Amino acid sequence: MANEASNGRNVVSTKPPPEPSPLRKAKFFKANMRILVTGGAGFIGSHLVDKLMENEKNEVIVVDNYFTGSKDNLRQWIGHPRFELIRHDVTEPLLVEVDQIYHLACPASPIFYKYNPVKTIKTNVIGTLNMLGLAKRVGARILLTSTSEVYGDPLVHPQTEDYWGNVNPIGVRSCYDEGKRVAETLMFDYHRQHGIEIRIARIFNTYGPRMNIDDGRVVSNFLAQAIRDEPLTVQLPGTQTRSFCYVSDMVDGLIRLMEGDHTGPINIGNPGEFTMLELAETVKEMINPDVKIISVENTPDDPRQRKPDITKAKELLGWEPKIKLRNGIPLMEDDFRKRLGILRKN
Ligand code: NAD
Ligand code: UDP
Repeated sequence: MANEASNGRNVVSTKPPPEPSPLRKAKFFKANMRILVTGGAGFIGSHLVDKLMENEKNEVIVVDNYFTGSKDNLRQWIGHPRFELIRHDVTEPLLVEVDQIYHLACPASPIFYKYNPVKTIKTNVIGTLNMLGLAKRVGARILLTSTSEVYGDPLVHPQTEDYWGNVNPIGVRSCYDEGKRVAETLMFDYHRQHGIEIRIARIFNTYGPRMNIDDGRVVSNFLAQAIRDEPLTVQLPGTQTRSFCYVSDMVDGLIRLMEGDHTGPINIGNPGEFTMLELAETVKEMINPDVKIISVENTPDDPRQRKPDITKAKELLGWEPKIKLRNGIPLMEDDFRKRLGILRKN
């Protein structure tokens, strides 16, 4: 039982959750669900906002410091009566009355999270502490978007949630990997110590429209390169694997986790696994058969394999991804072509 608890399973919190603020019971308070999305101007966050805004009972507040996100991703909601956008850095405390917090704020692309590693770890640790403090104060349920990176360079394949991982604590990726591991620890400590209602999603590689075109992640890189007629840069050895989830499937999984009864951690990802060479061949075949594929140097500590075991997501959330890579790539291509201003050749 002790081991189960330390894995985050079947954990019974020691305290009941804090009462929501008395303001909620005030006469003027509407029955709406008020939802905070940190990092809501980013790639996954903005798609999550689109989905949450479809429900007329939801009011959505986004906080973002625009490090990797942009107002443009939210332009359809700016000025909407159920939507608010706040420029704010989560490393600073925040006070807003909300019922749910989706805590996504953190750069996800290795290029960006390595750019200022001290800031990345502050965002993960102090940012998560601040959002947990807010959840405690207003009695909100909080969902953390953790990552498959908590498994590091995994020795168990596919990765199940009870695998503790193989992470280099002092490497160049550790500001992100270890930052998210501490964020998960904080979530469980607040849950056990203060009765906060928590949800943890371990997100595997996600792709789709609105990814930053030059953010260095592999799907966005290969697509932009194929469209621009530039060689696809496969980082050595090319046999390393990833599993790619389309963003609408991801958003569906996150909302089910938030609305369900399970704390997690739960893997949310698509188990379809590809080597980076296979991914390059697929993009070449689908987008630009004339493009070259070249090998380039890799970066340190690159995980050799990654594939989610999604048994828990299937059983506990009734969730599994619907969109295969070959169906998702054309949807992303349309968006990239529009933004790059490059039409299809035929
Ligand atoms: P993204 O970089 O597009 O979005 C992150 C957003 O957070 C951006 O809008 C950015 O400006 C904002 N942000 C960063 N630091 C902040 C701070 N200190 N204060 C306020 N806002 C801040 O990344 P994404 O792909 O949308 O990822 C969203 C979340 O999902 C992240 O927590 C990431 O770790 C997690 N995740 C993503 C993937 C993936 O494949 N996309 C995989 C695993 C985990
Ligand atoms: N990668 C690649 N070419 C690129 C960018 C990335 O071959 O232009 C590889 C990278 O070495 C890694 C994989 O693609 O093995 C996924 O990298 P990404 O940065 O997208 O995500 P993460 O490493 O965080 O899973």
